[in-house]
Amino acid sequence: MQALAERLDGVVGGRTLVGYELFGFSSLKTVVPAPDALVGHELVSVGRRGKYLVAEFDDGHRLLLHLSQAGRLDVEDRPKKTRGGKGGVVRLRFAGDGDGDDDDVGPALLVREFGTERKAAWWVLAPGDDGPLDRLGPEPDSEAFADFVLRGADKRRIHTWLRDQRTVVGVGRGYSDDALWRAGLSPYSTLGQLDDTSRARLLDAVRGVLADGLTKERTRTGGLSEPKLGAHFEVHGRAGTPCPRCGAELLRVSYESHEVVYCAPCQTGGKVLADRRMSRLLKE
Ligand SMILES: [Zn+2]
Repeated sequence: MQALAERLDGVVGGRTLVGYELFGFSSLKTVVPAPDALVGHELVSVGRRGKYLVAEFDDGHRLLLHLSQAGRLDVEDRPKKTRGGKGGVVRLRFAGDGDGDDDDVGPALLVREFGTERKAAWWVLAPGDDGPLDRLGPEPDSEAFADFVLRGADKRRIHTWLRDQRTVVGVGRGYSDDALWRAGLSPYSTLGQLDDTSRARLLDAVRGVLADGLTKERTRTGGLSEPKLGAHFEVHGRAGTPCPRCGAELLRVSYESHEVVYCAPCQTGGKVLADRRMSRLLKE
């Protein structure tokens, strides 16, 4: 998301929003202010908070966009005349070079979505309103997060709170698997079980996998969808393949909507974690 925000900032940062076309209402999560409030205003910058893209306008209004898993953002060098094509959500049209001529047509951003679950969503926020951002926890590189890891006493499993956006933003399943593997810690361990050295190792590992991920993201080219990161995870999504460190087969714990991948020799002292789905099958 960070790399995507940086690319968008380069394309539309400093340009005035001249109009928009809404292709469906369900993805727009706010009623007031209407998107019209943004028209005629300069988009000052595009940034990121958690998995939200945050566009700041010159009068303090903000537009938030959450692409989720099915969303995609296309840049049109000149706005197309189509209705947004399949899955069109909204097209935002920006001014060109600013000389005000009739031909002063700049780029457009087209949000589309594919699939019916985990849809894209967007918000128009009045100045001072944080909308969904006020539910987000600290960024991984913040002092607040360091304090949480180094001195906190959260009783949940580390893998659970690493994925919880109210505790820390932007880690998610994939980076949770990789960070715990790098730190050599069990996904089921809790902060209270860790000594100071292990806590520091965990903090380093979380920040390290995110920094490495961003480096790889920045080298991507092509469409501006939420990055498909599968290829650069170290262990996430790789159950059944050899551990990059020790060569043992990576194992998984399966849940309804996701799986946790780990290396038993590297992370659990060789212990195989109970797989809820497997044990249910065995009981039947
Ligand atoms: Zn290993």
